[in-house]
Amino acid sequence: MMKNIKISYKEFKTALNKLKYPDSWFWCRYTINPYSGCAHKCLYCDARSQRYYLSQDFETEVIVKTNIDKVLDQKIKRSRTLLPDVIGPGGVCDAYQPIELEVENTLKILKVIEKHKYPVNIATKSNLITRDLEILNRIATDTWCTVGFSITTMDEELAQFLEPHSSSPKERLEALSKIKQGAPKIQVGTYFMPIIPFLEDTDENLEAVIKKSKESGADFVLFSPGLTLRDAQADFFLKKIKESKYGNVVKPLLNLYSGQIGPPKNYVHRIYKKLLPLCQKYDIAVREKRWIPKDYRKWNYKISELLLVKEYMDVLKYGKSDKSFYWAGLTLNNLEESILNVYNRGELSKLRNFNSKVREFVESYLEQNKELNEKTGMDRFL
Ligand code: SF4
Repeated sequence: MMKNIKISYKEFKTALNKLKYPDSWFWCRYTINPYSGCAHKCLYCDARSQRYYLSQDFETEVIVKTNIDKVLDQKIKRSRTLLPDVIGPGGVCDAYQPIELEVENTLKILKVIEKHKYPVNIATKSNLITRDLEILNRIATDTWCTVGFSITTMDEELAQFLEPHSSSPKERLEALSKIKQGAPKIQVGTYFMPIIPFLEDTDENLEAVIKKSKESGADFVLFSPGLTLRDAQADFFLKKIKESKYGNVVKPLLNLYSGQIGPPKNYVHRIYKKLLPLCQKYDIAVREKRWIPKDYRKWNYKISELLLVKEYMDVLKYGKSDKSFYWAGLTLNNLEESILNVYNRGELSKLRNFNSKVREFVESYLEQNKELNEKTGMDRFL
């Protein structure tokens, strides 16, 4: 499987990347890439685009980041400002690509994560992750652990073409099932993204991915119609498609995108309108449950989640939303005191993006919890 891939070793000075805001899909505050590059070489991989500035040729080389666990450990130990929050190993690489079996960089990172009691969210296309079931289960018990398998088609031949070096969709679902049965505290699900127009957006495939995910024990399916078509990534993908038996989709794909990086809103909304009822039919969540810290951030994170989920559900249902809910939800993550203090001082309007509609929503939520507040005092929430 590692044929034609050169493996190099290099020590990097930094390991952990802190995001300005936790992302509202995977709830990651930090990302860490155990490797630079990815031997899975999915045809649509966005890591080929220029924005990731990989120092090596994506098609032929993977760099193992040596001592990454030690660099991470030192970073967490020495930092006075880092707070435990969700770490996402991978992002511009798959944390469980084949070289992981040999060098165990991801496992080493997980040991540091467990030691410092940080929560973790891993997205992968490999069933190798089941090797680490025990440590992932301990992290889930101590804090929080979510595992998502990226699955976009149940057509094995198409998957083999698009994702030639990862586990097959069937193997990924078997791994999902194994995690669900062996470690029920781990939140598991499917990342149904990117859904490639004209190849993976048939009614049959949309339903098959959701149905099979549910049958395998998935707690959620996160979906995203379309894929990005960006500079070098677009060139590579379109060339490969054109040369293949799927060449007839190139023209409609280019027509749909009309020179844009993503598909038009009306296409995305059309697919949303099919996926949301399917998830309802199979009783499967369309968002991951968030990790909630026990310190002063507790109610900030809970209310942030409510705001972000409301905004997202409005997009799914109506094709549009009030973006102030989104921005209020994101910026609330960075508030340096509990929102309950701000609420008690009558100062919600001073928070960023808290316009009257957002305030009304938040106040109504806090009012519903008033009985609890009065019974036990606001300290109950801290
Ligand atoms: S597994 Fe992810 S990072 Fe690796 S090639 Fe595929 S899309 Fe890219």
